[in-house]
Amino acid sequence: MEERETTIKIPEHFRLLYTAEDISKRVEEMAGEISQDYEGKTVHLVGVLKGAAVFLSDLLRTLTVPATYDFLSVASYGDSTESTGVVRLIKDLDDPVESRDIIIVEDIIDTGLTLKYIEELMRNRKVSSLSKCTFLDRPDRRKVHVEMDYVGFTIPDCYVVGYGLDFEQKWRQLPGIYAINQPTSKE
Ligand code: 5GP
Repeated sequence: MEERETTIKIPEHFRLLYTAEDISKRVEEMAGEISQDYEGKTVHLVGVLKGAAVFLSDLLRTLTVPATYDFLSVASYGDSTESTGVVRLIKDLDDPVESRDIIIVEDIIDTGLTLKYIEELMRNRKVSSLSKCTFLDRPDRRKVHVEMDYVGFTIPDCYVVGYGLDFEQKWRQLPGIYAINQPTSKE
């Protein structure tokens, strides 16, 4: 396994979980599965900013079915370690989703509250079908049950950065996924 994948100086306490190669292989598998499931349809990917932007763009480029995409952005109230469960919309989608085949694309599912909120929002807009895709799943701190259709990797209880995921808005550009010595907390 390559110790350094980039010229960026990576702090010593960052522990590499998945290399860029691991990720592209897995993303290709997921895109293959989705392409098979949606044969004959056009999928509309709904990405959740900012974390899912990198994953969505890789996924999009490996899909073999016609695809469109859009982004929304949400935030949850509460302090840094505990989500209150109140999620609010910061940026809505640009285009209507009614009668479309939607796939919500997330970076990581933690408590599940964000996904629950977005799922409800989409269902209220009378989509034709809805499925849920996440690059990472960390089930340890789940507060609400969410049924996922596509999961890249299931990870243990550690805070992760890279491949779109940040710590204090940094490290999103790392091509691999790293665990950092930080209690699992949102922002
Ligand atoms: P949930 O609503 O499932 O608790 O939180 C989902 C959101 O929290 C993710 O979309 C992500 O933005 C953020 N999040 C949760 N865990 C992590 C993590 O380990 N690293 C990073 N960078 N963000 C996380």
